[in-house]
Amino acid sequence: MKRPCHRVPFFILIAAACLTGMAADSPASDQGIRTIRAMVVADQHFARQTNWERKAREVIEAADSNLAAVLGIRLEITGYRRWRHSDAMDLYRLAEMMVDSLPRQGADILLGFTLSPRPSGKNAARTDGVTIPLTGTMIRLYQGTSDQNIFAPYVLLHELGHLLGGVHVNSPTLMSPVYARVISTNLDPLNQQIIRIIREIDFARGYASLSPAQLESLAGLYEQAINAGNHETVTLMQLTEMYIAAGDYVRAIDVGRRMTVYDPRNGAVWDKIGDLHARYGRADSAVVLLEPALEKVDDPGPVHRRLASLYFRLDDMDASRRHAAMAGHLGFPVDSALRHNLDTDTLPADPKRPRQ
Ligand SMILES: [Zn+2]
Repeated sequence: MKRPCHRVPFFILIAAACLTGMAADSPASDQGIRTIRAMVVADQHFARQTNWERKAREVIEAADSNLAAVLGIRLEITGYRRWRHSDAMDLYRLAEMMVDSLPRQGADILLGFTLSPRPSGKNAARTDGVTIPLTGTMIRLYQGTSDQNIFAPYVLLHELGHLLGGVHVNSPTLMSPVYARVISTNLDPLNQQIIRIIREIDFARGYASLSPAQLESLAGLYEQAINAGNHETVTLMQLTEMYIAAGDYVRAIDVGRRMTVYDPRNGAVWDKIGDLHARYGRADSAVVLLEPALEKVDDPGPVHRRLASLYFRLDDMDASRRHAAMAGHLGFPVDSALRHNLDTDTLPADPKRPRQ
């Protein structure tokens, strides 16, 4: 999972001419190209344009030769669909919502396009994207700009690097966290190794489809990225997912703990560590971790939601109901099964008042 990572400032235009001619440092061109089936999704803003399907296809085709040479993949479009959402979401939330709410329909990944009004100011951001690894990418273009032919394919290439598990590195290469530093289609050695493994994945089964040896190598590569100073939540989160896939909850929880130290205000981190403890059968310690998190995060809604189901498991219905109410109030309602249980048959009798 990722935070929105990229902005393309205006001044990068000067470097643009170099993009298409740049030689690729290939991790994969000698190994056969993996085909990834992608469903193209246009949100209501993107789909309002005439020929939106052609516009999406042009971006993908412009990136195509680099996809094969740099990432060792090619995209096969399985279909185009529109998707209406409720707006007022940041780009990350939008990507998350897309992958949570849309069926894959035979595709491996979802490739979303959205559109924003042209921002004001010459240094305003134009094209960016966010990615949920192994699942989906959301690319945001801006209306009325002429740079899309150049930048959109580059942003797509970078985001598909994340899709294949790639992490940010501090070198002027494709996975640099700042697009502006350089437009490069070179891939650094660490990401070459990561992507070479993840290219083998069965997208339907995710990390669980990798062998124990592959997972172990991958975990080692992510630890390497973290040790190199790339201590981003996204990298830690990917490492956590990996340990879960390997069934190693002890190490997953340890990484979760490192995330809470590194990024204490990130609600997704607390949500994840609570989930880990809960899945490991430790609802009680999950609650101990999550209660203080409420004070620390900007957006406590997801933490309340997590606490509601944990307290339910711990048979503390009052606490569960309290957190469920707060979660709903903050726009993160608990799922319908829990709501149903809290409202009806499992409501405990008040222990201080014996039944008559
Ligand atoms: Zn990035």
